[in-house]
Amino acid sequence: MTAFFRHSDYYVIDTDDALQRHIRIERDRARKLRKSRWWQTMMQRGECHYCHRRVDPAQLTMDHVVPLARGGRSTKGNVVPACPECNRAKRLETPAEARLNRMPRPEESC
Ligand SMILES: [Zn+2]
Repeated sequence: MTAFFRHSDYYVIDTDDALQRHIRIERDRARKLRKSRWWQTMMQRGECHYCHRRVDPAQLTMDHVVPLARGGRSTKGNVVPACPECNRAKRLETPAEARLNRMPRPEESC
């Protein structure tokens, strides 16, 4: 599987082994990112990045805009708080649809 863009939030992945390694590393990074002051502040705002509804912070989940399985990384530019509904809905989209629907990227929307 290959990612098509070179960007700091993307990896270029050419083998399944590399993909599994990438997912392992980025899941670990996501765990650390969840403990960061930056993420805690995002959660306290209690707003879903996609539908902009106010959500109980306990309900928000960390969503990767570009999924790890597509080469996305656990960086501030690629993770956003999402409500359970948006998280579920996003799983049903193709990566191309998800990419189109998630523009602009988080740092540009603030
Ligand atoms: Zn939402």
